[in-house]
Amino acid sequence: MSSIGAFFDLDRTLIDVNSGLLWAWHERQLGNISRLLMARAAFWSALYHLSLVDIETAFGTATRHYRGELEADLAARTRQWFHRDIAHCLRPGAARAMASHRAQGHRLVLLTNSSSFEASVAAETWQLDDYLANRFPLDDQQRLVGRYQHPMCYGPGKVELAERWAQAQDVDLDRSFFYTDSHSDLPMLERVGQPRVVAPDPRLRFVALRRGWLVLDWS
Ligand SMILES: [Mg+2]
Repeated sequence: MSSIGAFFDLDRTLIDVNSGLLWAWHERQLGNISRLLMARAAFWSALYHLSLVDIETAFGTATRHYRGELEADLAARTRQWFHRDIAHCLRPGAARAMASHRAQGHRLVLLTNSSSFEASVAAETWQLDDYLANRFPLDDQQRLVGRYQHPMCYGPGKVELAERWAQAQDVDLDRSFFYTDSHSDLPMLERVGQPRVVAPDPRLRFVALRRGWLVLDWS
């Protein structure tokens, strides 16, 4: 019989911060990105929560910035940053929910718009079984070519990636759970049988109340 998945968004769901913005701050402090790019990141981040932005354009610009960077360097920098700035931001309720799903034999999967570098460290740190995140093609010297792999792990792209994964892993999405805070995740909330809303943004709160979805507070 196929198994049940428990999919988790990362930013403002498992953790109580937007790690993308914190990463941009971190990169700014190291001098790896310009003040202009930092300002743009903050601007996009603000709009991101209102779901107004053309996220693909914003993400494309951010990704181009890393063209030529060695994958190993970026992975090491992300790992160090994650353990210093992000690991302790896990919400207490998130830890309890993950433990409960694990005890029931469900497959735990991070489903996030963050980078695969960050998602892999998060999955390892909090013992999730797998992660679905944004991946970046490399050249033959293992340097980023400055693009991201389509579909972007955002909105309907999350559904596409989750469906592909579920089929390969024999997981039944109709019986699976998805936890998120964001209205942009509505397609995936509608795809699973057990949608769960965590500390939602105002638009998602409205939808959740109208549909009678469970709204959780993991603080
Ligand atoms: Mg989120």
